Amino acid sequence: MLMSVLPPSGFVAVVNKGMSARFAKLVNSAEVLLPQLPWPPAFEKDGFLRPDFTSLDVLTFAGSGIPAGINIPNYDDIRQTEGFKNVSLGNVLAVAYSTQKDKLTFLEENDKDLYIKWKSPSFEVQVGLHELLGHGSGKLFVQDEKGNFNFERKSVCNPETGELISSWYKGSETWDSKFSTIASSYEECRAECVGLYLCLNTEVLSIFGHEGADADEVVYVNWLTMVRAGLLGLEFYTPESKSWRQAHMQARFVILRVLLEAGEGLVTLQETKGADGRPDALITLDRSKIHTVGKSAIQRFLCKLQVTSTGSHDFLRLRETILLRKEARKMFVQANTRVKGESVELVDYEGSAAGLICSFIERFPDDSAEVEAQLLELNNRDAPCWC
Ligand SMILES: [Zn+2]
Repeated sequence: MLMSVLPPSGFVAVVNKGMSARFAKLVNSAEVLLPQLPWPPAFEKDGFLRPDFTSLDVLTFAGSGIPAGINIPNYDDIRQTEGFKNVSLGNVLAVAYSTQKDKLTFLEENDKDLYIKWKSPSFEVQVGLHELLGHGSGKLFVQDEKGNFNFERKSVCNPETGELISSWYKGSETWDSKFSTIASSYEECRAECVGLYLCLNTEVLSIFGHEGADADEVVYVNWLTMVRAGLLGLEFYTPESKSWRQAHMQARFVILRVLLEAGEGLVTLQETKGADGRPDALITLDRSKIHTVGKSAIQRFLCKLQVTSTGSHDFLRLRETILLRKEARKMFVQANTRVKGESVELVDYEGSAAGLICSFIERFPDDSAEVEAQLLELNNRDAPCWC
């Protein structure tokens, strides 16, 4: 049992040993996998700081939202020198995604079946890669206060232009302080792309127990999930202010754009009409082109990651369709425990608004009236996501 306090939240969880063991195996393979990323070795940290990666099943989470995983600390200057730690909240992931076919929007029937079957295993692979080798990879080129460089100024070249690199971070600057409003979307985009790119690796797939035809399905569903997520992400774009309200959603939309622009029929996006006569959309992915067209697009993009994104006209129309077909907001109804004699009992509630309110007022009986009033006013918040 583990208790943790991450401001402004706290949770109690139990370690999922099986999943943690697979993540530990990925950590142990990092030194072999990192050099396969499409940048020169000089762009990688001098020594990989072996992070701790644990999968937890949450018993109770108290805070304003429930994340699906946590990579701490969020300060990249500390990640660079001291290392970092990941936790994946496994049972949050398991309930966060639709497994009901009629609620799976924008996919072909056959893809819906595959999605339902392979969503969990493929997401486990993506999450491990995103957190560990995504956020965990890359080196910041820094000149410290004394004027010393942490890289060879006379030999490190930009892989795109072949020229010596001409700018770097100074003192305590990081990507967060330099890239301001797009910093987190940029970093999430990089982490998601590392996941897409390295999930094509047979070694990675076998760490998670996927071989042969099963491994192909995991790859396909992981990429399909990403392109669909890019489409769903439009919900989090505000056309009036031309701004994105959620870093992960902006990142996934950018990745969808990259894969659409890769062309050659890799991703097809069609505006259609639903059975109800109202606008709908259909997104498809050509699985035979993932390892060729898709891989090389992500490879180039990972090297670049310079794309700025705003929703263009067609995408604004699609955004209306996304909002029209939006699924009802998911609720996390948390169980409570109560001591009965010598033993502890789990108290479960129905998965509904009423169940959610019961769960809260029974947990906080002294404040039940106020808690109930607040819950009834709860605003729509973003879907759970990785930090
Ligand atoms: Zn992330």
